Amino acid sequence: MKVIEIFNSIEGEGKRAGKITTFIRLEGCNCRCFYCDTKYSYENSIFVEMTISEILNEVKKFGANFITITGGEPLIHENINDLILKLTSLDYKINIETNGTIDIKNFINYDNILITMDYKCPSSGMEKRMNLNNLKILRESDVLKFVVQNSKDLKKMEKILIENDLKCDIYISPVFGKIDYKEIVEFMKVNQKKFNMEKLTFQLQLHKIIWGENEKGV
Ligand code: SF4
Repeated sequence: MKVIEIFNSIEGEGKRAGKITTFIRLEGCNCRCFYCDTKYSYENSIFVEMTISEILNEVKKFGANFITITGGEPLIHENINDLILKLTSLDYKINIETNGTIDIKNFINYDNILITMDYKCPSSGMEKRMNLNNLKILRESDVLKFVVQNSKDLKKMEKILIENDLKCDIYISPVFGKIDYKEIVEFMKVNQKKFNMEKLTFQLQLHKIIWGENEKGV
């Protein structure tokens, strides 16, 4: 597999934010979001070709129980199933970060897997690529993450939440430095009778607060 980096850090966002996690970042993405902060994972970036055994050996060195498979877009890799099967057979608890454009149905039946899926809002430029069927199959244990950078994105999120009977948790994640965080809190307050607020969480990306916007491998 084409691996950009394997590193150990805290999970910067989502359900496991703040927990020690080993990250496997795979090469390549089928999107080009305007605000992308991991362009170094795109095709033709510097990567290392590794077998699944080599990846496992690297992961084991850190001793973490939590693994996050990310990218780029990790689900575009042909043998991603093999990697997931191997990791779950070793009792690792896996978080798959996916951009929402790839059908996730083959991944929700694994044990020990959390899906953290993006909804690409209008400001990403990638909204048309969303696989909307995924919204129906995200489980209670999964996360749908709205990456927002303006009020148009928040409006779109509101529409999606109204139109879909989502079982999963919902996270609102601002593009770093692009939107006044107070606007998001106000949005939540104004809409609190409309949605199930127990499911809605405003998050900041911890790793960017700790290490800054452009640091890799943290
Ligand atoms: S899906 Fe993620 S990695 Fe791909 S272009 Fe968008 S932000 Fe970047």
